[in-house]
Amino acid sequence: MSIQQSHTEVLIIGGGPAGISFCRKLKKLKPEKKITALRPEKRSMVYCAIPYALEGLFDHHKTLKRDELITDTGAILIQRSAKEIDLQAKRVVDEAGDVYTADVIFIATGARNMIPPIEGVDAKNIHTVKTQDDMERLLLALDNGARRAIVIGAGAIGIEQAQAYRARGLEVFLVDMASRVLPAMLDEDMAEPLHETLRTNGINLTLSSRVARIEKKEGKANRVVLSKGNHIDLDPENDFICLAVGMSPDVELFKNQGLEMNKDGIIVDSRMRTNIPGVYAAGDCCSFFSGIDKKPISGKLATNAVPMAKIAARVVAGKDDEYPGFFNGAATCVYDYRIGSTGFTKELARQRGIEPVIGWGETTALFPMMPNSGKIRVKIVADVKDLRVIGGQIVSSLPATDKTDIITLAIQRGLTLKGLSKLSYSAQPWQSFMPAQTSIVQACENALDSFMEKNKEIVYPDVLECV
Ligand SMILES: Cc1cc2nc3c(=O)[nH]c(=O)nc-3n(C[C@H](O)[C@H](O)[C@H](O)COP(=O)(O)OP(=O)(O)OC[C@H]3O[C@@H](n4cnc5c(N)ncnc54)[C@H](O)[C@@H]3O)c2cc1C
Repeated sequence: MSIQQSHTEVLIIGGGPAGISFCRKLKKLKPEKKITALRPEKRSMVYCAIPYALEGLFDHHKTLKRDELITDTGAILIQRSAKEIDLQAKRVVDEAGDVYTADVIFIATGARNMIPPIEGVDAKNIHTVKTQDDMERLLLALDNGARRAIVIGAGAIGIEQAQAYRARGLEVFLVDMASRVLPAMLDEDMAEPLHETLRTNGINLTLSSRVARIEKKEGKANRVVLSKGNHIDLDPENDFICLAVGMSPDVELFKNQGLEMNKDGIIVDSRMRTNIPGVYAAGDCCSFFSGIDKKPISGKLATNAVPMAKIAARVVAGKDDEYPGFFNGAATCVYDYRIGSTGFTKELARQRGIEPVIGWGETTALFPMMPNSGKIRVKIVADVKDLRVIGGQIVSSLPATDKTDIITLAIQRGLTLKGLSKLSYSAQPWQSFMPAQTSIVQACENALDSFMEKNKEIVYPDVLECV
């Protein structure tokens, strides 16, 4: 087969949320642009829905995205990976040897699962969770007689996997070296009730324990040995391990190209420009800064990737726009609890040199006399320096994303505890606590009270106003 050479105005490398959003936005703004996208996998995925497909809540094919999301725009989609690249010359060779030159390159290669350097981690029955192949391997294991699964990593991905396997009737072990689940989302006090819930629902939770090694029999894991000397056995023929210990940027292809990078990925400015003219990047393959303290922070979320990609598209289309930074609003579920987190936890604030002021709010989620009125607990984190809100955590029996997003907006708009305590809210028996209170306002008032108690002599009239 002869090698094809083609020129395109814009070449997209990667077909995840960043690649798709960039393509759709750019084509909307500039329909005449010639765009080609390279993506190796058969279909793009709605990764967030994988645990619920594994659980069997719907046919797993529903997690596959339609290629038309790209091709309907008039862009060309090539199902191949970029294998060689010359970023200065804007020349890319795909896995079949075909050559593309472009005026603009948009890098959206995302992130891969981190594989920790543990002895035995190459065992055949160890799976990660991201791609269609991963999902199909996990489905095969679940459908073909797995009785026990060990999930390593109790972040949002690991915890959702553990619940899915348990729902399929497996005996599930969830292991993390941190002292709590969801350590990037919740402080200890907010995570604590979730430990009880996971255990009550039959998940064997082991915290503050590292995996020391994985033992194998004929290439398959049959024992996980933990740092405290205890171990968990597996039937190597049927059982499996899921590794969910984090993601690292997929940027190997771009090394030695003069592209500025750090451990979190390609460094871009607020317009998603790399240090090489005409080369843009967005999403999980990028390093970016926090919108709160402007220092680098990890933010490997689809809800970061999509807006970054839209900014890049606007800039490539000749319109100006800037990305304000990661705030990392995120959500997950632990059985009946709906969990939201945004900005800095108390622990993260301290790690970043900020002394936090904390407040809590707790109400029933509905009017207390309503059936199943549930509970909502909110923790608010502010900077002691100016009482500006820098974080929030929510553990609730109702969906937590709207409340999480309110706190994110407060952080983005620079509201102080006093500013957010003035939130004008709504109330109705089936949808909220009573008009007398709402948990976000209560948390802010609680934080302000405890701050004022300790700082009676300090008056902060100006910084307590919204900026
Ligand atoms: C199980 C799971 C659940 C998640 N749940 C949530 C959630 O609930 N909420 C949330 O906000 N985020 C969630 N995330 C994170 C979210 O999916 C990612 O942040 C998002 O997919 C990043 O988008 P992206 O386009 O930057 O990268 P990716 O989605 O990783 O896409 C990268 C694309 O680049 C392609 N690529 C890589 N190398 C090459 C190459 N050499 N040539 C061509 N193409 C290449 C890949 O094949 C892929 O198509 C979840 C992730 C996982 C794995």
